[in-house]
Amino acid sequence: MITLVKGFHDILPEESSRWSFVTESARWCLKKYGYREIITPIMEKTELFVRGIGQVTDIVEKEMYTFQDLGGESLSLRPEATAGILRSVVEHSLLRKEPVLKLFTIGPMFRRERPSKGRFRQFFQLNAEALGDDDPFIDAETIACACSILESIGAKGLLVEVNSVGCKTCRNVYRVELKKYLEKHLDGLCQDCQRRLNTNPLRSLDCKAHGCSEIVKSAPLIVDYLDEPCREHFSGVRRGLDLLNISYHLEPRMVRGLDYYSRTAFEIIDTDLGNTKAVGGGGRYDTLLAELGGPEVSGIGFAIGIERLLMGLRDEDERFARNVDIYVAALGEPCRETCHMLVDFLRKNGFTVETRYSSYSLKSHMKQADRVGAQKTIIVGSDELENQSVTVRDMSTRNQAIVPMDDILTFLRGDGD
Ligand code: AMP
Repeated sequence: MITLVKGFHDILPEESSRWSFVTESARWCLKKYGYREIITPIMEKTELFVRGIGQVTDIVEKEMYTFQDLGGESLSLRPEATAGILRSVVEHSLLRKEPVLKLFTIGPMFRRERPSKGRFRQFFQLNAEALGDDDPFIDAETIACACSILESIGAKGLLVEVNSVGCKTCRNVYRVELKKYLEKHLDGLCQDCQRRLNTNPLRSLDCKAHGCSEIVKSAPLIVDYLDEPCREHFSGVRRGLDLLNISYHLEPRMVRGLDYYSRTAFEIIDTDLGNTKAVGGGGRYDTLLAELGGPEVSGIGFAIGIERLLMGLRDEDERFARNVDIYVAALGEPCRETCHMLVDFLRKNGFTVETRYSSYSLKSHMKQADRVGAQKTIIVGSDELENQSVTVRDMSTRNQAIVPMDDILTFLRGDGD
């Protein structure tokens, strides 16, 4: 048997209705907030991610699926969607037509992380990006949109954590101070953080190693180093959240794992999931578009992990029950052709219909009808065939009615009991 690649997973038929429910609810929310769908490839030139996400990040250093194609070009499976979306925006000059552009995409991302509960190497994300507006209220709106997606699928106990990671100017000052502090605790840092101390000390702030997380508890905080414009922007974001009645928690150590964030950064944790893993997160990026060859336009975006969302949905929720309107049971060979046509006729008239061509006994048909969750079963035996009628059985009440074949649509549409 050839099995799945480690950390990859199948979405089996019993999960797919929950899957569609989540993605459809999300699509509907995003539309309400003015986002339009964009679908970009799952593979891009490696350089895009190196430039976009940052060379000295866990994602680029350790987690990308990178290979040389037969033409010798270095390609990577996308570890996140923002870089690809922005590449597309720049390549097709989309901002020229629409200076404020709101885009979303839903699709698989690939990161070679250590697999664990809720952590995969291929996982699905919903990504939303709002470009061309740097008003703090759009940051608040973005956070509201992420929350509304989560709430639309019934997530409760959401915890919104926000921070400002400042702009390049204030971060440069902060970086020096943070480095000074970390140098004093060098021995306690993991090897990665020691190595990254000169290139990217901010990474220590979200390092998972126990020693590092203890050390950063007393590290200087970026919020204390924000310059005036960044401080003002952050207070505007908080005002925007207050006006929308979104409760949040200030998390001054949150920097998120990607280098491109500036100013607002946020994460959303679903405390009902019983762990501290975030279901979504995002932030503002002020220079990313320009770094990718585009105009000097800022943006804010977020990503929500679909698998993490699904973890919060209960299996027994009846919205995900298999739903078939009608099961057609042909009792014996002579009824086969009539039923074959009847199934087709009902489907063409808008009903979801199931049948089993190779079953003939009433008992086995009924078992199948129950298994697929049919609301009604239409039984056609030799008596029905002779009288040009069918027997319709309501599967919940078990009441039966004999209906002339010609009246079947009227009967079914009128709910005929
Ligand atoms: P990030 O792109 O790292 O900010 O992640 C955004 C969201 O994507 C997280 O909050 C998770 O819900 C989801 N996510 C990130 N990495 C993984 C993973 N390896 N497996 C499953 N979901 C993930």
